[in-house]
Amino acid sequence: MTDTVETVERSLETQVSQAVDAWLRWLPRWEPATHRGRVAVCRRCLGSPILSAAGLGSDVPHGVQHGLSTRAKAVIDHSVAEYTARNLPLLQAELDQQAARNRARSYRPAEGLEPEFDGLPLDPDPLPGAPFLFTISGLAADSDADVPALPPLSDEAKAALRQEVGLADDYASMVGREVCAVLLHHRIRIQGAVSQYVEPQIAAMLEELTRSLDAPFDPRDFDEPTPEAPQ
Ligand SMILES: [Zn+2]
Repeated sequence: MTDTVETVERSLETQVSQAVDAWLRWLPRWEPATHRGRVAVCRRCLGSPILSAAGLGSDVPHGVQHGLSTRAKAVIDHSVAEYTARNLPLLQAELDQQAARNRARSYRPAEGLEPEFDGLPLDPDPLPGAPFLFTISGLAADSDADVPALPPLSDEAKAALRQEVGLADDYASMVGREVCAVLLHHRIRIQGAVSQYVEPQIAAMLEELTRSLDAPFDPRDFDEPTPEAPQ
């Protein structure tokens, strides 16, 4: 059964709308990070056309962006997975094998995370001079090494698989463009929520920062006459 383009577009419209709804329900719980910021940039969010379409520019904190870009990406991934299952048997078989292999791993820290944490590096940036005794990504890599590799593919099978991967990529780009087009219609409520929940917290943080920077130079500190001071 092949869906018409209209059916796919309608279903995407609903899913993007639900993704934005979920992000809007989460946003009131967002708080500025008080810990040291990460040095590494997020490859999912940096320059993301999804975020431009949503109107979440680089002036918006990354946590706020990441919650939306991950939810929108999940819509695209879901749509591509359905298309692959219906139309791309070789790629589907390959994915099934990889999924079975993944299930065999004893430790899978990157799976089942909340959207706000999905796709972020598993470990914090190391502090200079304070190496970790172990890292989560290191444990995951050890666990990967215990799982046997997939059998090698013949050249023909590789070429056929590559062709299906190309088709899946084309479909993902098409869906991605469609998701961006739908997000344009949600800009106003996204911007409204940023004004309501994010901007006041940033303003408060900046005010706090200004106060603490000003504190050493507070003129009242110099007005108090010291007992020894000549009058
Ligand atoms: Zn991100």
